[in-house]
Amino acid sequence: MKALIKQLVETYGPSGFEDEVRALIRQHVEPLADDIQVDAMGNLFALKRGEGSGRRIMAAAHMDEIGLIITQVEDAGFLRFSGIGGIPHKALLGTRVRFANGVTGVISHDGGAAAEIGGKELPDMGQWFIDVGARSKEELTVGVGDIAAFVRPFDDLGQRLLGGGLDDRIGCAVLIETMKRLESSPHDVIFTFTVQEEVGVRGARVAAFGREPDIGLAVDVAPTGDTPHPRHPIALKLGGGAAIKVADAGMISHPGVRRALERVARARDIPYQLEVLPFGSTDAAAMQASRAGVMTGAISIPSRYPHLTAEMIDMDDVENVVRLLTAYLSDPNPIENQE
Ligand SMILES: [Zn+2]
Repeated sequence: MKALIKQLVETYGPSGFEDEVRALIRQHVEPLADDIQVDAMGNLFALKRGEGSGRRIMAAAHMDEIGLIITQVEDAGFLRFSGIGGIPHKALLGTRVRFANGVTGVISHDGGAAAEIGGKELPDMGQWFIDVGARSKEELTVGVGDIAAFVRPFDDLGQRLLGGGLDDRIGCAVLIETMKRLESSPHDVIFTFTVQEEVGVRGARVAAFGREPDIGLAVDVAPTGDTPHPRHPIALKLGGGAAIKVADAGMISHPGVRRALERVARARDIPYQLEVLPFGSTDAAAMQASRAGVMTGAISIPSRYPHLTAEMIDMDDVENVVRLLTAYLSDPNPIENQE
């Protein structure tokens, strides 16, 4: 599975430009699916038909990653940009980026690197630029509208993995692995690889509207609170088990889905932890509010340093998320009765 994760993480796919990632995932899921479809926005659906009169479950992970889009080119060859998705300014300085055509550059800002030393406030997005080494505007082979992804090498640390874009290629890997392991289910399961999550869960919105699932389940990363003096009090720990989402800033999980996930985890001795995030959200928020409402929950892979160029995950957590998702999707009662 590590080879699959590496392959997914090393593929270019900022929001709106997920084509390469989709082509790669399609290769993996085509032999496992009963039906494959791509919608107008680029969401990829891989259906595994159920063997009974079960529910229609949409399990979704997003293919896109954060990036930068060029807004203006200066005569001297420097490129101004704005963010695609939530860009942490502190991660920009000195970071390398790569465009779809292979052009690579480094990010800096007006006033030079010295401006941020001493804890001064970081400049606004408009004061940053990308330098691709061009001596003038004429030398550039990228321009307004071109999209850069962050350069973020993948490292296998053994138990743990390091790499940017694990948000949410690790979720895509989990779905692919679950498709392999899911032998039989009473439910029609639509494994959904969504576009444009990072810019406001846009792909999941139309995916859920179009496919009309009874139950929605997002698989994404969630930040942990286990590094020294974390900014937010978060209970999640790296290596602490699959995270079952209770709530984040964008949604409250359907209690029946959440309880069913907990019951399945306990029954199979799968380590899990409950996730409550005071900020952020996932595709689950869009799925839940589709049409007349969808019973929706989420399973997360705990992650350190999300949206930075080196995120960290633990392989035990990945395995536990795959086990939980596989067990849940084959369970005859995916909605627990209310207490
Ligand atoms: Zn994500």
